[in-house]
Parts: sequence; C-alpha cells; structure tokens
Amino acid sequence: MNLIDTHCHLDYEYDGGKGPDQLVNEALESGVGTLITIGTEPSNFDAVREISERFPNVYHTIGVHPHDASKVDASVLADMRPRLSHPKCVAIGEIGLDYYYEHSDRKKQQAECAAQLDLAVEAGKPVVIHSRDGEEDLLPLLRDYASKQQGPSLGVIHCFSGTDGFAKACIELGFYISFSGILTFKNSEPLRELAKTLPLDRLLVETDAPFLAPVPLRGKKCEPFMVKHTALKLAEIRGIPFEELARITHENSIRCFQIRTP
Ligand SMILES: [Zn+2]
Ligand SMILES: [Zn+2]
Repeated sequence: MNLIDTHCHLDYEYDGGKGPDQLVNEALESGVGTLITIGTEPSNFDAVREISERFPNVYHTIGVHPHDASKVDASVLADMRPRLSHPKCVAIGEIGLDYYYEHSDRKKQQAECAAQLDLAVEAGKPVVIHSRDGEEDLLPLLRDYASKQQGPSLGVIHCFSGTDGFAKACIELGFYISFSGILTFKNSEPLRELAKTLPLDRLLVETDAPFLAPVPLRGKKCEPFMVKHTALKLAEIRGIPFEELARITHENSIRCFQIRTP
C-alpha cells in the first residue's frame, strides 16, 4: 500500500515542534509513501521547494492562495515561471476563490486566479484549486482554463466541501476531486452521499495538514499520516476493500500530478 497525501503544508507549525523529517517519516510508517507540500504565497515558495528536494517521495506546488491575492502582481508571476520547471514542482496552487473568509477583494481574487490559470496553461501544468463559497464565479474561470489547457491533466479541486452541482461540473470538465478529513466529520453526511456517486477514477485523498484532522483524531493538529483515516472512510463509503481504494487513489494521484515515482 502506498497512500498519497496530495495536499499538506509541511512548512507550517506542528505540535511539539515537529518538522518535515518527523512528519515524512511518520507518514511512511503509516503507509503514506508520497506527499505533496503546497505553496500558498511568494514567501513560502523556497521553503516548499527545499523540503521537496530533501525527500525522494515529497513533491511541491507553487501558487498564491486567494487569501493572499493582494500579493500577486506581474513580478510574482514572473518569479513563478522559472520555478515551474523544477523537477519536483508538480502543479500551480493552491489558487482559487474564497468568499467565506474574503481576506482579499473578490475582483482581485478572480483576476489573480485567472492569471495563475493562464500560467498553468502556458506551462502545461495542472492546478490545485481552493474553493469556498465562490462557485458561481469560479466555474466560468475553470471552464475557460479547461478549454485552453493542452497539458495531460487539468488538476484537482482540493479539500472538497462544495455543492453537488459544482462537483459534477468539475468532473465533467476533467478535474479530479480530493477529499480531506471533512469526509469523516459527523455532520458531513451530504458530502459522503456525494462521494458515493462520483467516478472512482477521479478521486484523491489529502489531509490539508496541519488543518482538519479526521475522526477519530479530530481536535488534534492534523499530520500527513492521518490521511489513512480519510482513505478508510472513503473505502467504507464506496464499499470496496481499503487496499483497493489505496491503489486506485494512488494511481489517480500519479495521473493527476504526472508524478514519476522514485
Ligand atoms: Zn485550501
Ligand atoms: Zn491547503
């Protein structure tokens, strides 16, 4: 078994001062063999790259989170361009729209999401999409992107917690959908119902560590090894053996991010 935590933040702070070495080793011991650590703003692009360079089984992405959309300008995009050819850089993200927290102006979020989607088209790289409460504005951007992307993979809607209609529209466009610990939460019955119906060959799992620890570890700071609990829940929902779910989501992740496994 080799689970892939397709979305974690290894450069953030963890309990007991745990750093990437301990987090990656503990993930490996739990059968989580591959991790993708996610860029969120220009100031952490070096950190995520350096972490991925230290471990054969860790990859990274670069992108500016909608919370930080106000930090994007032409110089940031110019800085991102050469970074995309790094052999461990597998996607642009996380990018998207977040109207729930609305830390940046909505128009600015839309403009910067669009600019980074264009960069993904230019680079032929997939994207990691963060979406919260802005689906009606995000979907047209994703449609436009999907129509232009010539690369082998569009990317993923990460930490999915949106509407059924949005999930289906994204699947139709060709995106993958990734489930986090939210799938295990008591009040997530609608999300579990949705997870039952989506095509298995488009599903991924992630932790979004250090956030959103899954049941039965809820309340703790989330760590990448915990992705196993989300995968167990997804296997239960789909009524298939855990080993099979692990194999399928592994293959999906490899396809989604075009990972060449070591
Ligand atoms: Zn996110
Ligand atoms: Zn994240």
